[in-house]
Amino acid sequence: MAKETIGFKPTNVDLTGQFALVTGASRGIGRAIALQLSRCGATVGCVSTNKEKLEAGTVAEIRAAGGTAEAFAGDLSNVEEVNRIVGEVEAAFGKIHILVNNAGITRDDIAFAMEDAKWHDVIQTNLNGVFYCCRTVSRVMMRQRYGRIVNIASVSGIIGNFGQANYSAAKAGVIALTRVLAKELSGRNITANAVAPGFIETDMTAALKPEIKEKAMAIIPLKRFGKPEEIADAVSWVASPGASYLTGQVIAVDGGMSY
Ligand code: NAP
Repeated sequence: MAKETIGFKPTNVDLTGQFALVTGASRGIGRAIALQLSRCGATVGCVSTNKEKLEAGTVAEIRAAGGTAEAFAGDLSNVEEVNRIVGEVEAAFGKIHILVNNAGITRDDIAFAMEDAKWHDVIQTNLNGVFYCCRTVSRVMMRQRYGRIVNIASVSGIIGNFGQANYSAAKAGVIALTRVLAKELSGRNITANAVAPGFIETDMTAALKPEIKEKAMAIIPLKRFGKPEEIADAVSWVASPGASYLTGQVIAVDGGMSY
């Protein structure tokens, strides 16, 4: 059995002195990313809807491990809230070297029966919210002439997923947005990449019906769901100075299900 390596600082990733902003950091994949970036030396701004929950959870965990983190709260599907949060982060940190757009929701239903609200809520949070964050933070990164944008997409945005027309369309949009940003921001030394998780053990997948989980398992070559830390490991490298020649890419961390 190989030595367990996930959840540890990778030897080739040093984020000392860097400031990172991670959305959806209260739980699941975002929590694991915030912890990992902190382990690698970054100061982490953690964003979700509830400040107290963040302070008692992820931020407290980072501080207990000797890292530095601050909580910022708001609704990322609202453009004014996004601009306020980024303003607060800039005021607190002065710089933002790393932006990880991880916050996301699901409102699953089969396309022909999907209500407008389910479609709009998912597009508003998972696509428009990511655009708002990228637009605001990229202005900060352009002034710095350095930045790493990492958008958390999904295997659903690559191959489509039954019952997820809204979510798959939003994630495919995030992939296209990432590729455009890679082209538009390259001259300012800013990279933009997407990490596309497969099925990962979080609250989001805990809500899936057992028969959906069984069907998913059947098409995952590694025959298991991933762990949030396995996504965080990939993100920490993509967000590092060492990933300097990587931009416009989609890295599927999905147990092999999308190839
Ligand atoms: P999760 O456990 O449900 O956590 C979602 C996070 O997003 C929470 O921190 C939540 O904050 C935050 N959030 C949601 N809407 C928000 C809003 N409007 N404003 C601010 N924060 C908001 O999700 P997860 O499974 O870790 O997924 C994280 C990301 O990975 C998502 O983009 C998801 O689409 C993607 N992904 C997940 C999987 C998977 O299998 N889990 C697979 C592929 C892609 P609160 O705690 O305040 O609600």
